[in-house]
Amino acid sequence: MNVLVVNAGSSSLKYQLFDMEKREVMARGVCERIGLDGKIKHVIPSRREFVVEKTMDDHADAVQAVIDLLLGEETGVLRSLGDIAAVGHRVVHGGETFAGSVCINDDVLTAVEDCVHLAPLHNPPSLVGIRACARVMDGVKQVAVFDTAFHQTMPPVAYIYALPYDYYERLHVRRYGFHGTSHRYVSERAAKILGGDPKKLKIITCHLGNGSSIAAVKGGQSVDTSMGFTPLEGVPMGTRSGTVDPAILSFLAKEENLSLSDVTDVLNQNSGMLGISGVSSDFRDLEDATANGNERAELALSMFAYAVKKHVGMYAAVLNGVDALVFTAGVGENNAGMRRRIAGELTYMGLEMDEVKNSDPGPGEQDISTAGSRGRILLIPTNEELLIALDTAEIVRKNA
Ligand code: ADP
Repeated sequence: MNVLVVNAGSSSLKYQLFDMEKREVMARGVCERIGLDGKIKHVIPSRREFVVEKTMDDHADAVQAVIDLLLGEETGVLRSLGDIAAVGHRVVHGGETFAGSVCINDDVLTAVEDCVHLAPLHNPPSLVGIRACARVMDGVKQVAVFDTAFHQTMPPVAYIYALPYDYYERLHVRRYGFHGTSHRYVSERAAKILGGDPKKLKIITCHLGNGSSIAAVKGGQSVDTSMGFTPLEGVPMGTRSGTVDPAILSFLAKEENLSLSDVTDVLNQNSGMLGISGVSSDFRDLEDATANGNERAELALSMFAYAVKKHVGMYAAVLNGVDALVFTAGVGENNAGMRRRIAGELTYMGLEMDEVKNSDPGPGEQDISTAGSRGRILLIPTNEELLIALDTAEIVRKNA
């Protein structure tokens, strides 16, 4: 069975075609500048990479272009459209309606539309992507996989904000959490690596990239996570502030003569690593600047590590112990220095990092804790697309 995974953005569309038997990517790529001049990067792993200049008026045009590439003589990996069994879509917000992946029908589309006000930047492109695929690939099953779904198992103590309860009931203001597909993927992989009864495992997953979130996973279920009503809450990120005293918003609005929406933009786009350092939102640039003696770049990195470490401590308390601490995503997978800052001194909770393994872990999934460490420190490359493909294949098999 072949499954196409689609991640639609406002002017882009990323895709990966999986051979589910081999669990291999047959082709992947990204359509960029949809509605503008248009460019497609199309990759057939270990074979070739193509860059195609192609005007795409809308997402349906982009989907058609992807199909044409997948079937093309030189660029193709399929014989006919019928070789695609289903399409799995990444959808950011499923609200409280979706606690798992679902086969898309009209009711699902309406429910995703109802979540648009919760994710006004992210859900509309997903809907456009789903409709574009339905149009171009008439009759091919479509599945939605939500970033929020994994965190729907959080208990009310973790997801209710201490606001008038009416705001939760009437406006659905609550913690939703994000990066759920990644937290689920790496916690499931960690459970496999650890062995034993997965229902008994206590795992803390750190998805550290441009956007970062930490999750507490008990017996395979998310019980708390650092991102909240939006992906702005939690640890400071590339350009996002993370948690700040909420009173700062109205203070800044007044002092700087900004609207609340302007201040929120500052918190989303000009804060975090970029705001603190004044150098860059990219952790590699900050490492370089720190090596050259830039003190604010060092402060940004220290603050990030400090915030992540505080969450690890909080979640160890929530879980009453920890069997594994997992690092994933761009920073978590590649930045040994950051892993050391976060987990170099966690022996009090039974986690001892092996500095040699941490410095040079090698490719793929790695255990970077010492042999004597009571709990494991694991490095697990995330693979959200694979999990979307696996969910899609399972739902299609069940509905066959
Ligand atoms: P996104 O949230 O956009 O998916 P990523 O997970 O790709 O972000 O993470 C981006 C961050 O990861 C950047 O700050 C970058 O510095 C860092 N990063 C990515 N690759 C590497 C690498 N090979 N070495 C060090 N840092 C890396």
